[in-house]
Amino acid sequence: MSTFESIYPYTQETIASYPAHTEAEIAQKLAAGDKAFRQLQQISLQQRCNWMLQVAADLKTNVTEHATLITREMGKTLKEAKAEVLKCATTAEYYAENIAVMLQPRLITSDASKSYATYEPKGIILAIMPWNFPYWQVFRFAIPNILAGNAGLLKHASNVSGCALAIEKVFLHAGFPAGTFQAVLVSSKNVEPIIADNRVQGVTLTGSTPAGSSVAQLAGKYIKKTVLELGGSDPFIVLKDANLEQAAKLAVQGRMQNAGQSCIAAKRWIVEQDAVPGFTAHVKTLIQALRQGDPMLDTTSMGPMARPDLAVEVGNQMQQTIRQGAVLELGGQYEGCNFMPTLLTQVQSNMAAFQEETFGPVAVITAARDEEHAIALANETSFGLGAALWTSDTEKATRLAPRIQSGNVFINAMVHSDARLPFGGVKQSGYGRELSQEGVHEFLNIKTVYIG
Ligand code: NDP
Repeated sequence: MSTFESIYPYTQETIASYPAHTEAEIAQKLAAGDKAFRQLQQISLQQRCNWMLQVAADLKTNVTEHATLITREMGKTLKEAKAEVLKCATTAEYYAENIAVMLQPRLITSDASKSYATYEPKGIILAIMPWNFPYWQVFRFAIPNILAGNAGLLKHASNVSGCALAIEKVFLHAGFPAGTFQAVLVSSKNVEPIIADNRVQGVTLTGSTPAGSSVAQLAGKYIKKTVLELGGSDPFIVLKDANLEQAAKLAVQGRMQNAGQSCIAAKRWIVEQDAVPGFTAHVKTLIQALRQGDPMLDTTSMGPMARPDLAVEVGNQMQQTIRQGAVLELGGQYEGCNFMPTLLTQVQSNMAAFQEETFGPVAVITAARDEEHAIALANETSFGLGAALWTSDTEKATRLAPRIQSGNVFINAMVHSDARLPFGGVKQSGYGRELSQEGVHEFLNIKTVYIG
């Protein structure tokens, strides 16, 4: 029987080993999920919201325990892990307070005496989730879906099984019927029978573009709806009239937090020519001040990456970019999962670090001749998740925003997800939305009712 190992990235020590669920156990989980889905229909929305507030309370009360598990399994600093757990808690509170409005039937004028659309749950939704935000990625799917009456089945990344099981317990202890939210420990190659099962009515995946493509093909085969939140290579555009000090601060935060392992990290800093010297000076100072190391220490600002193979991949992209002519300004070394915060300048659009998604702490500066060139460079990617645009002229920014091919544009701010705002991408970054009214409706049956 296969097992999933949890390895502490900082020391490479194996901290736990979890046996994969057997076929019989998976069958039980599907049956339990279906039963819970039916039970949820008999339970008032108010009761589901009360249980969700218990979820929030558990996350807040036990924040250190949850955060320690995150840090031990994937390496982010304990400080970052605590912030992630608390974000899940406030999101649970937000939806407990606001989901009723999002689920209200929509009255539509037609030739009927009355017509309207209702939003009804569909069944079990399979969530295939990544390790980079092992709580947040799961909760942002689970909270709205469970409140709306769906059941959740989580296939988490193989290196964060402890987080998967801990989240299952949070929902159970909050009072939700057993089976409402379950973790299934299964390898990627064994997900097809789950997707094929009639009780599974949708699949949401956050992860790499190849993973999304493969799962979407399977879901297509069985006519199951998918939401895909895939990779990104977000531009962080700095025009010459921007507040460079503030832009530099958020650029470094947006690139380096979580050791650079975020889909919406500021992966390409595109800076208007005249601002390059000033911006570079600011970011150099900030990157030099970062402390990479033991993620449990309060003084550490950047933990290790999640797995050595991920560090090697980013290392290769960095070295190739240097061979292609970029200049290594800071960092550049890595050992195991510990990757020094790195800055490359004079990066051109044909170089690896510009063309590919770099999932680690490597910041790159590309000079743009003018704002037109900056927008063209921003769109010169197969991805389209987020984008940041910095200028003191917000009127100009709102005029430029529609020209950027992405699922969101943050003006004079860092791209981030927020429980209240829709989140998702275009192009190879995927489709569908999470969060907000749009995200809540993705896995619901939008049913038209017509009274003649
Ligand atoms: P993957 O995309 O491979 O993994 C994400 C999730 O998808 C995991 O649960 C994984 O399971 C699952 N998965 C992968 N392939 C399949 C498949 N064919 N069928 C079903 N499930 C599948 O990410 P990696 O950990 O390998 O990271 C590789 C790269 O992906 C990163 O360097 C980064 O570029 C990108 N990535 C992007 C993320 C984002 O937030 N957009 C998050 C994580 C990674 P399992 O672990 O068992 O393989």
